[in-house]
Amino acid sequence: MALKRIEREEGIKRTGYSLLSQWTEMSDRKKVEGIRVVKISDGTVIDHITAGHALQVLQILGITGKEDYVVTLAMNISSSKTGRKDIVKLEHRFLEGHEVARVALVAPDATLNLIENGKVTRKTRIQLPDMIEDVITCPNQRCVTNKEREPVTPKFQVVAKDPISLKCHYCWTMVDETDIVAQFTQTK
Ligand SMILES: [Zn+2]
Repeated sequence: MALKRIEREEGIKRTGYSLLSQWTEMSDRKKVEGIRVVKISDGTVIDHITAGHALQVLQILGITGKEDYVVTLAMNISSSKTGRKDIVKLEHRFLEGHEVARVALVAPDATLNLIENGKVTRKTRIQLPDMIEDVITCPNQRCVTNKEREPVTPKFQVVAKDPISLKCHYCWTMVDETDIVAQFTQTK
């Protein structure tokens, strides 16, 4: 009898232990699944977006949410690098050069991950150059870049990156993030 009881108690202990380890396993798996939910098989992941700027990135790319591909947005995620960051994942969407240049304006420290077959095939750090050519137009209607006949290619000097501040190379008109985002959402 006594032996049996010990065996049973040990059994309970064992079960308890295995339940505990199972639970730990499950919570680990949950973590992994949590990541997998937003994982995309192919497309673009824009990572390390300045915290709070993910919406501007979507706006600047003309993404409204009415597209037929999955758009995942995560804001204020803790990051070891920058403290907090935003992430945008675009399924089946690959960015063109001029789109990358636009993203750089509102997320100058972002990284672009190209995803193919569930794997990151290319990782590039977005770089905002000191001079931006032919990405945005000058809001000053009288600027040489807005001349109807023989307009000059718009050129802006990057005065500050965070928050972004640009100065027209020709007429010195200042442009901020609100102007930039408005320009790309108006043309849509
Ligand atoms: Zn100008």
